[in-house]
Amino acid sequence: MKAVILSAFGAPDTLEIREVPTPSPAAGEVLVQVKAAGICHHDILHRAGKLPGARAGVVLGHETAGEVVAVGDGVITHRVGDPVVIYQRQFCGLCRNCLRGRQDMCRALGLPAVDTVGGYAEYVCVPAPMAIPVPRGLPWEAAALSCCPIGTSLRALRTLAGTSPGDTVLITGASGGLGMHQIQIVRALGARSIAVTSSPAKAAHLKSLGADEVIVAPDLKFGAQAWQLTGKQGVDIAIDNLGLSLPETLRSMAQGGTVVVLGNIDGQAVDVLPGLLIGRRIRVMGSGSGTLEDIRQALAMLACGQIRPVISATLPFNEIRRAHELLDTKAVEGRVIMQGWL
Ligand SMILES: [Zn+2]
Ligand SMILES: [Zn+2]
Repeated sequence: MKAVILSAFGAPDTLEIREVPTPSPAAGEVLVQVKAAGICHHDILHRAGKLPGARAGVVLGHETAGEVVAVGDGVITHRVGDPVVIYQRQFCGLCRNCLRGRQDMCRALGLPAVDTVGGYAEYVCVPAPMAIPVPRGLPWEAAALSCCPIGTSLRALRTLAGTSPGDTVLITGASGGLGMHQIQIVRALGARSIAVTSSPAKAAHLKSLGADEVIVAPDLKFGAQAWQLTGKQGVDIAIDNLGLSLPETLRSMAQGGTVVVLGNIDGQAVDVLPGLLIGRRIRVMGSGSGTLEDIRQALAMLACGQIRPVISATLPFNEIRRAHELLDTKAVEGRVIMQGWL
């Protein structure tokens, strides 16, 4: 089969298409023919050698949807022809975290976020529990995005923050892959969104996705406007997709508000005022990828049209270097999806 190998850390031209043996499913595994694979910012960091613990010589890609084409011995949950999306990292299914439904916190199988079963290939072989059933008829590109950008966002907004009808939700980094899906989830949950972006050119797109308010703040000073837009009450919930915006996010919070931090784009420390947390009784949580249950719910919301995948380009795998260049130069509004081979 053909696969894209990360030959070394560096620029997009380190991604090489090679012929490699097609894997065959061992007991308990399924072989999936890849139908669509999303490109994540994580892949860009991995390729550039900026992801701690990551290796070169691997196949990248953790946003993979496809069709089961073979099952190993003992697999009773899947059949040939089933559409599936692959959970974004390996989990053991046996540790304390897995048994309480927190596959995202499994530490049994290598480094999370680094050990990917790469989807930049014609086929991928995974343990059957990692292949999550997809509602029939859902487009492959929608299924591919159900785990990473959408499941992650649904976990933060619904499972953790408990977004409810009538809540006001602030979203920083709203024009990124997470933010553009979060705007839609907030609307689906009956809440009101205030989307923060750095670029005036992106404001109209955020409105078209359903943002109730858009704040353009290239300097990340959005607290005063958020305060104004809420009648000086502050926002009930905030999703911080940047990390460096956290001090301003905290200033935007209502009494008893909840902040979920999903992003850490420059990796720097930020100033947090303990008095502000205490005075406003603010709850701050960190989160990451969704659990199997979050992804099942994300797929259901995609299937009924409450969330639409935001895709800026679909390219064949042969153009993987160009796809990575698009992300490197930030020339995208939405996910880039790889589909098919020339
Ligand atoms: Zn991703
Ligand atoms: Zn586990």
